[in-house]
Amino acid sequence: MPQIIIHRGAHTIGGSCIEINSNGYRIILDVGMPLMERDGAEIASDKLENPSIENGILPDVKGLYKHQTPEIDAVFLSHAHMDHYGLLNYIHPSIPVYLSKGSHALIAIGNVFYPEKNKIFFDNYKFFDHWQPFEIGPFKITSYLMDHSAFDASSLLVEADNKKIFYSGDFRGHGRKAKLLDRLVKYPIKDIDCMLMEGTTIGGGHKDGFDDETDVENGLRDIFASQKDISFVSAAGSNIDRLVSIYRATKKSGKTLVLDLYTYYVLDRLKELSNSLPPHKDDHIRIYYIGNHTRNIVEYLEKEVLYKYKSRKIELSEIINNRKEMVLKLPVSAMRRITKELIENKPLDQVKFIFSMWPGYLEKDNYYFNFCKEFDAELVKVHVSGHAYLDSLKSLSHALKPKILIPVHTLSGDDFSKHFENVVRVTDGVAFEI
Ligand SMILES: [Zn+2]
Repeated sequence: MPQIIIHRGAHTIGGSCIEINSNGYRIILDVGMPLMERDGAEIASDKLENPSIENGILPDVKGLYKHQTPEIDAVFLSHAHMDHYGLLNYIHPSIPVYLSKGSHALIAIGNVFYPEKNKIFFDNYKFFDHWQPFEIGPFKITSYLMDHSAFDASSLLVEADNKKIFYSGDFRGHGRKAKLLDRLVKYPIKDIDCMLMEGTTIGGGHKDGFDDETDVENGLRDIFASQKDISFVSAAGSNIDRLVSIYRATKKSGKTLVLDLYTYYVLDRLKELSNSLPPHKDDHIRIYYIGNHTRNIVEYLEKEVLYKYKSRKIELSEIINNRKEMVLKLPVSAMRRITKELIENKPLDQVKFIFSMWPGYLEKDNYYFNFCKEFDAELVKVHVSGHAYLDSLKSLSHALKPKILIPVHTLSGDDFSKHFENVVRVTDGVAFEI
């Protein structure tokens, strides 16, 4: 009988690491950097910089790490968010890492633009194709492409000993790929013995003014269209759904979208995998070159990238002369520099600063509020979660009807039984037989 050991994730959000073993074979689903201590407290930064089993950052998985004799047959990544892949640098190089092409591209892009401590290096990887089962020892594994704020995210079906285990990974049903969840609900996988389902939003994350990504796009469009002056928007450069929403909203409002080199490179690179993504020929995207992004491209990619993008380059003077037409999606520091020049000519005219990310970042970093205070801009939140709300969690669990439902990636596992059937709580590090 297969055994599941949640090494981390039964009681916390982030740092996911789940083992499934059968007949002496062992596989690991996700090796995430934790976002919090196991009791929910904040993690001291020196621990994160020097992860070890002793300090609790590396989950105690025998045979997974560089300093151990390898005993793990494969590691699978559900998607390219740090809290699911951030410990990859520490695993033994002989253990193959299976991931989607999109996840690999996002990690590679991070290696160009992220600070040194967030760069990930691994050579022993293999791509999986979605919906194409493949075998490792006694396991049959199938990736299901899912709707999530990370591009090319998967849920993973693991079959062994005539048992079916479904790991939801992180998912949602209100993004640009919502139909992937709809399809799974309409044509469910039958006879699921155990589902490990995320519950990030349970006990807190509610819809806040916007129902889905289309709603966000329309909200952005309305604000862009009504602004009498320049527009500012802050969003994660790795949240592709959101970049597409900003792109479409800007286009519909007849304005110009100004991206930094990093964000433009993300889109340009992922377009190789998904041709419908922007940029499109002769579209309304311009690029504002920022010193450290330029240096990163020269150092880790090649100068030619800069030449290739040159026709889209925009200078400060053009932004200033056409301020009303401009939607800036840039780091706050760059927006601040530009705004200081702008107000030399004329103060901002009732400008809204659109904050289009997880609201928790507002408390972590006060530079968004500081920016608004300095330039008398109104901060407006336009956002939906990257994670499923209760209605989608219920749809998935009703459709798959697992015999056992184990909460993961949640701070509210105890509340699962209020909403779902067959809930079983497990403890981190304790084996559970299916
Ligand atoms: Zn995620």
